Parts: sequence; C-alpha cells; structure tokens
Amino acid sequence: MKHRLLPILVCPDCKKSLSLETVSEVQGECIEGTLSCHTCQSRYPIRKGVPRFVQMDEYVDTFSFEWNRFHDVQIDILNATDRSEKTFQGQTGWTPSDLAGKRVLDVGIGAGRFAEVASRWGGEVVGVDLSFAVDAAYGNVGKRENVHIVQADLFRLPFAERTFDAMYSLGVLHHTPDTKKAFDAVVPYLRPGGEFAVFLYAYGHYSYFSDLWRKVTTRVPFKIIYYLTSLSIPLYYPYKLPFVGLALRLLFPMSQHPDPRWRWLDTFDWYTPKYQHKHTWPEVYGWYLEKGFENIRLNQETIEQSLLHINMVGTKTGNRL
Ligand SMILES: [Zn+2]
Repeated sequence: MKHRLLPILVCPDCKKSLSLETVSEVQGECIEGTLSCHTCQSRYPIRKGVPRFVQMDEYVDTFSFEWNRFHDVQIDILNATDRSEKTFQGQTGWTPSDLAGKRVLDVGIGAGRFAEVASRWGGEVVGVDLSFAVDAAYGNVGKRENVHIVQADLFRLPFAERTFDAMYSLGVLHHTPDTKKAFDAVVPYLRPGGEFAVFLYAYGHYSYFSDLWRKVTTRVPFKIIYYLTSLSIPLYYPYKLPFVGLALRLLFPMSQHPDPRWRWLDTFDWYTPKYQHKHTWPEVYGWYLEKGFENIRLNQETIEQSLLHINMVGTKTGNRL
C-alpha cells in the first residue's frame, strides 16, 4: 500500500480517517501493517501489500481461484496484445484523455485487466475486489506508481462519498447477491460530473441451457469444474463443425475465444460464480435515471445485441464540490 492512498481511505464502518502503522516496507510501500480507526477502534490488516477490509472472500471464492490461476491471461502487457484495451475502450467509450490525471475507481478489479489499461492511460486507479483476486492484481499492476489495490466489499467501501472522478464496473455487479443494490451502493463514491460505466449480462435464449447446467456446476466443488472446463480447449474444433457444432454450442455453451487459455478461463467464469444475474437494458437505464445520471449512453452493440450484454455509461448530475 502506497502512503498516498491513506488520505482517501476511511473506516468503512464509521467513515472516519485511519492511521497507518507499518511493520514492513519495500520501496516506500507498506507490505505488512495495520490501519486503525480511532473512532470505532476497528483495525484492518495490510497483508502482502494490500489493505484488507474483509476477512473472507464470502460468495466469490471461485473468483479468488480463477484470477490467481489465470492471473496473466487477459493482461495486455504480459501478452503483447491490445485485446483488453480494445474491450475497455468499447465498454466505456473512453479514450486516454478522459482518464489522464483523474482518480478512477475499478469496482471488481479481478486480476487487473482493465486497471492495467486505465493506469497506462494516466488515471490514478484504485481497484477494489472482495476476492483474493487482489493478490493477482497486485502482482500484475500493484507496483505501478498510480495503482492502488484494496480488498473490500463494494457494499462497504472504505472511501468517503464523491471521492472518484470516474468509475467503472465491467462484468462484476451481476455477480453480487443483488445487482441493483450493488449499483446503488457504489454510485455515491462518484463525484458530480463524473462518469460511471457498467457492463452486465442480459437475458436471452443463448443462456437457456447454460442456466440449467449452472444449477449443477455451481453446486459441485469448483476444482472439478476447473478440470471439466479444460475440455473447452480441444472442443473448440468440433464446435466449429456445421450442424453438430451448432447443436453443441446450444446444448453445452462454452467460450469460442480463439486463445485456448482465455477460452478455458471464460468457460470456467461462466459456469462457477454463485450469482450470475441477467438484466435488460431499459432496466439498467432506469437505475441510471433514478440515481440522477444524465447523458446516459448505450453503445450500439447493446441495442443490436441486447440479448447478450448491456453496456452503459452515464454522467452524474449535481453540484460539484
Ligand atoms: Zn471506525
């Protein structure tokens, strides 16, 4: 944890400032230590460079496993690609100048796929995650001067309201117990005039069979699903066949990503999360309106392919501080 994160951290319970006690430090960064609240006497450990505001990974243990096991797969700089950057650009509509010099919140940082892009674009990125994916993210991007990683619950974030200039949560909120409550819980941390981008799954026939399979796959140990989903690597080829391939894709949906490890990761990611809610874009549009957003944008893909996903960005209204 970098010392310059301290001024924006507050106690998640009473929202008062925290004091830092460092036990070990490497290159000016606190690796082990404690954050203390002198108002309510709560204490939060810093372990492996990451402040921990939760003790457990609760309902996201599959993500703890997933992002540590597949920690490097989607990170552009480790794979000499721009896939995540293109996805980030497509899902947020932002360009580097929209984030440069801004304080940005990554809600559900995972292994740091998008934080890597946002920080490369010059944003001061704070990434939070409930899961131990934070350890993978710390390994991937945590040493960057403009990246801060925090393990915390989005329903109980350790920040003051209106702390961030921009926020994004791409493929995350639908994995909480209640997507709208999660949306509502994070909006206050955005300052008026700031933008919030979300990416969510949409209802559609495409997931009819996988929803049935998920009734089983979410109930057996995820290590078993980990090995089973490795079949997505060789099955890529029969899935491309005419007729047979179509039937397979319908009955046993799996990722068709051309990169084998990405395909395995995506397939595991589809079948294991405890929660996987789906929504419609008018529903999400209503959430933005209710929270006082304006200039709400759906990208063209959301309208054309609204059966697959929802992608929306809005600007928060209200007086700037
Ligand atoms: Zn407190």
